[in-house]
Amino acid sequence: MSYDPQPTASHFIDGAYVEDTNGTPIPVIYPATGETIATLYAATPAIVEQAITSARKAQAAWAAMTGTERGRILRRAADMIRERNHDLSVLETYDTGKPYQETSVADATSGADALEYFGGLAGSLTGEHIQLGEDWVYTRREALGLCVGIGAWNYPTQIACWKAAPALACGNAMIFKPSETTPLCALKVAEILIEAGLPAGLFNVVQGMGEVGQSLVTDARVDKVSLTGSVPTGRKVYAAAAEGIKHVTMELGGKSPMIVFEDADIDNAVSGAILGNFYSSGQICSNGTRVFVHRDIKEAFLARLSERLENAVIGDPMDPDTSFGPMVSERQMQIALDYVAKGEAEGARLIYGGKRIERDGFYMQPTVFADVKDDMVIAREEIFGPVMAVLDFEDEAEVMARANATEFGLAAGVFTQNLTRAHRVAARFEAGTCYINTYNDAPVEAPFGGMKNSGVGRENSKAAINHYSQLKSVYVRMGDVEAPF
Ligand code: NAD
Repeated sequence: MSYDPQPTASHFIDGAYVEDTNGTPIPVIYPATGETIATLYAATPAIVEQAITSARKAQAAWAAMTGTERGRILRRAADMIRERNHDLSVLETYDTGKPYQETSVADATSGADALEYFGGLAGSLTGEHIQLGEDWVYTRREALGLCVGIGAWNYPTQIACWKAAPALACGNAMIFKPSETTPLCALKVAEILIEAGLPAGLFNVVQGMGEVGQSLVTDARVDKVSLTGSVPTGRKVYAAAAEGIKHVTMELGGKSPMIVFEDADIDNAVSGAILGNFYSSGQICSNGTRVFVHRDIKEAFLARLSERLENAVIGDPMDPDTSFGPMVSERQMQIALDYVAKGEAEGARLIYGGKRIERDGFYMQPTVFADVKDDMVIAREEIFGPVMAVLDFEDEAEVMARANATEFGLAAGVFTQNLTRAHRVAARFEAGTCYINTYNDAPVEAPFGGMKNSGVGRENSKAAINHYSQLKSVYVRMGDVEAPF
């Protein structure tokens, strides 16, 4: 190991590492070997209390600073993250098992983008002036107060930064609870923010399972909850937040369609399908896991896909040549393998992979099913693993109806050379993030989030500002006040 991934302590509160070994132990398992590489402890009620008290105490002074001052700190943190990209990427690989080839370009770097972008926006956040004859109203854009971020395990650095950056830019404090499966990376984000000059208490990290998340969400001192997780967890967290009429952002799961028309560039479509199913070993919320391929090109598409899959370099995720790593946990691998068995039982044609790879760690092969039917379980449920379902279609109206016939609405993609068809299809997709002749790009400048059961609110872009701030209207009368008596 290039360095010891065991952090100084489990939690980061009020600018410093804090430990409480009375909490439930959380082993951190390196997915590539199955070894325990660190042990942390879930937050006890005393730790949660400490995190809330320190965040509440720090927030008012932070909100009173100018946006430019706040933004400068975030941008400094972005620079520091970029300078330390190598070590942060290695840690991300320890936490998640994703290949260094990916983590070195997609995780800390994406977190830095968010801090830089929202750091840049912070100084230009404004309200507006509304003239009403001689009177006027002005609006103040104010912070919400204390925001709680709860993360999934697939992008621990990125998720922490995508939530912290807009929250802090708007003058809020944030308590972040990482997934118990990947608790390491957010602690580094906290360390760096403090080193960059963030006042203590404004970004606290507490570890724990669902109960710790629940205790934060139900606390009356919390004003907003932003969750990245599955739809069932989203339902619980949204309901708990509703009890306290709290603001929410819900970034939930998906089962997104990718439609490949007969005129598509087949190699590009195959590239899109590979990115949208096998990057991060398929553990990406917006993955296009229902690949609808026009009947005329289906066999050509499948042949090219199988050829390209032979080029996957499966192995040690720390080796920069490795392009396909293990899954995050034994449990997640087992879930994906169970779906493979369901696909076979339902009569889908397994054309590639489907098996656990015989080596240490939680590796399974990239897997492709063809001849998948809409009602099969593998076409309806989110698998969150490297399992692609290829479905046939013949005409646009039919495929649009089938693509949209899902409870989810996170993402969708279309591959075609026909310009008007591409935009027509994008307009008809019931999904928050759509792609034309590409898949799974997520630049910080563009809104990201789901429709239907895939979520509420948007991350990234100027749109995120509306989810981390609120408007106050101030009415100013210039003349006398008229009253009826
Ligand atoms: P999960 O729903 O099991 O857990 C997510 C987080 O919620 C964890 O930190 C967990 O501890 C916490 N949690 C669980 N129960 C809770 C409760 N009752 N109250 C508060 N917090 C609670 O999800 P996961 O398995 O970690 O991640 C995979 C899921 O996340 C997939 O469904 C995936 O699609 C989704 N995801 C969505 C996005 C997006 O941006 N839309 C991004 C990444 C992952």
